[in-house]
Amino acid sequence: MAGIYIHVPYCRQACSYCNFHFSVSRRTQADFINAICKEIGLQRTFFDSLHMEGGRPVLKTLYFGGGTPSILSISDLLKIIGRLDACFSLDAVEEITLEANPDDLTMEYLVALKQTRVNRLSIGIQSFHLSDLKYMNRVHSPAQAFQSIKNANKAGFENISIDLIYGTPTMNDTMWRENLEYILDLGIPHISAYALTVENKTPLEYMIRKGRQAPVLDDHIARQFNIMQKMMQKYGYLHYEISNFALPGHFSKHNLSYWQGVPYLGIGPSAHSYKNQQRFWNIANTSAYIDSVEKGESPHTSEILSETQALNEYVMTSLRTMWGCDLDNVAARWGNTRVDAIRRMAQKFIDKGLLEEMGSNLIITAKGKLFADGIAADLFE
Ligand code: SF4
Repeated sequence: MAGIYIHVPYCRQACSYCNFHFSVSRRTQADFINAICKEIGLQRTFFDSLHMEGGRPVLKTLYFGGGTPSILSISDLLKIIGRLDACFSLDAVEEITLEANPDDLTMEYLVALKQTRVNRLSIGIQSFHLSDLKYMNRVHSPAQAFQSIKNANKAGFENISIDLIYGTPTMNDTMWRENLEYILDLGIPHISAYALTVENKTPLEYMIRKGRQAPVLDDHIARQFNIMQKMMQKYGYLHYEISNFALPGHFSKHNLSYWQGVPYLGIGPSAHSYKNQQRFWNIANTSAYIDSVEKGESPHTSEILSETQALNEYVMTSLRTMWGCDLDNVAARWGNTRVDAIRRMAQKFIDKGLLEEMGSNLIITAKGKLFADGIAADLFE
């Protein structure tokens, strides 16, 4: 079974570090909702090899990401879910996630949201400290961050994930520990934590370049990553992907499908899709996206991955997970020669204690996790 991602490209305020596709103007929002519903219809045959029910492909997960999906009204969300249900079967759906910002999560909104089929919230808290929120130009306050979690629990949402960012120059290690402790004390079952990355052409990159904001330092990030690994382990969380921790039984089912090569469909501007070793990406321009869908045209570009690209992608994504890179799978799909080459290149990392071989799997050690992407790149064909 597969999943669908819906990209909602609107935000109330631009975070300084963000390079996702979004706009703070909501001028196009009504047309966007209609276009999303239309694209869902255009893509109803995307999953050609899925189990069908009543002529509709059966879905396992839905994920509303962005942008800020919680900016949508409940009636807009219901309209999209209803359209999905008409074109795909949601009868067996296990997880419907909505990414939300704290300032949107009023009691009124959450009570209404609970009546929809959304059963998982991913709340973009990033930090509980005002100095960090200001540095990142987040729209919410620390009080709203705390209140949003309280409200979500009160409204009956148990499956909650919190996003945090570490490595901001405004956050010392004590403050980082406090951020984690707040969440651990609340028993939040899933945490996604990202190192602050200074992306090109973002306001943050500009301000650092002009000396108006303090730079982001690698050793600060590394130290806070290590603090997090130790604390999460102590509280019984599984570090199941480099940026994701969960209590047993609370992995993100939708994100797991990305890392396990399961086909997925992305709807909306800039959304990506994958099936049969082929990648698709929609145009990252909301007006052009709407125009294209209005004309009945799928607004995407695609590429077929070569065997080498597919292998490298498998090595990269699998090494980032706690299950690691399955060399039996590599042998079956790409041949024993590739396995021999990967083993040869992996040896130096095994000697340094950054990688280990368990059964047929190559797994990154706790010490190696900070360097996961570099190690994976070194194992590429
Ligand atoms: S709310 Fe999310 S998508 Fe919107 S600007 Fe901030 S980080 Fe980017």
